[in-house]
Amino acid sequence: ATPMSIMVGVGRGAAEGVLIKDAEVLERLESVNAIVVDKTGTLTAGKPKLTEFEALEKLSPSGVLRMAAAVEQNSEHPLARSIVDGAEEQGIDLPSVTKFDSIPGGGVSGEVEGRQVLIGNASLLEERKIENAGALNDRVAELQTQGRTAMFVALDGKLAGLVAVADPIKDSTPEAIRQLHDLGLKVIMLTGDNQRTAASVAKQLGIDDFTAEVRPEQKQQRVTQLKEEGYIVAMAGDGVNDAPALAAADVGVAMGAGSDVAIESAGVTLVKGDLRGIVRSVQLSRRTMQNIR
Ligand code: ADP
Ligand code: MG
Repeated sequence: ATPMSIMVGVGRGAAEGVLIKDAEVLERLESVNAIVVDKTGTLTAGKPKLTEFEALEKLSPSGVLRMAAAVEQNSEHPLARSIVDGAEEQGIDLPSVTKFDSIPGGGVSGEVEGRQVLIGNASLLEERKIENAGALNDRVAELQTQGRTAMFVALDGKLAGLVAVADPIKDSTPEAIRQLHDLGLKVIMLTGDNQRTAASVAKQLGIDDFTAEVRPEQKQQRVTQLKEEGYIVAMAGDGVNDAPALAAADVGVAMGAGSDVAIESAGVTLVKGDLRGIVRSVQLSRRTMQNIR
């Protein structure tokens, strides 16, 4: 490969907001034939809006939201932002949190006004042995079928309520998926979100292969597995939880608005967070490599 045409390729990408790290990445992009995409913040806007907050007995719905939002103030997850913003829109003043802890792919916990607060998914409730954990399962299933992401809220080891958000698919995503398919790439969606919400997104986008309820290390394992099957894999993600999978992929693709960790692990950064940038980078690579030969 002559360095000159590679530099032209990299430069052309940069002008379009597709930042390709180096010549090696541009060369590798040519043979990518599978793309693994994270759901939240990659296929979807990643700017979810709070839609429901509900309580089991005792506490009020806004009391549940207040406790959840207090803890989420310390999280950089897109879901956290929507819960905090939702609480502010309700005019709720947020108390401070101590002993904050984040469980990637699971949720967050902390202490608020002397109470232990946990917000997250069903597997986190199970792992933390939360009492009465199944009490909201029917309601949550109903919300998930509507495409919502629902999170359980537990107080002092007991289920107390739920918060739910809607995260719309980015305008650019349906076309990006079509174009990726047209390029002959296999598209695989991985998400830490639940099976029902994932299925509703996959169906809307025509993605036939997806795995839901995966933890960050399982995203990485799935990438490794595809490589072992002979695929040349690009992986696109936006979060801290995607960094191991990005690093394991043949080409890691970070979303511009994503976390610094994701950007550092990536070979390609899509400044505008538009997945059509991957299509462009593969086309650019194919053309550049053809010119060289
Ligand atoms: P994705 O792969 O879709 O980006 P994540 O792996 O980041 O999703 O998160 C998976 C799930 O873990 C979320 O759907 C949510 O249920 C839970 N979760 C993660 N972070 C948080 C948080 N800060 N607050 C509440 N729940 C969270
Ligand atoms: Mg994500």
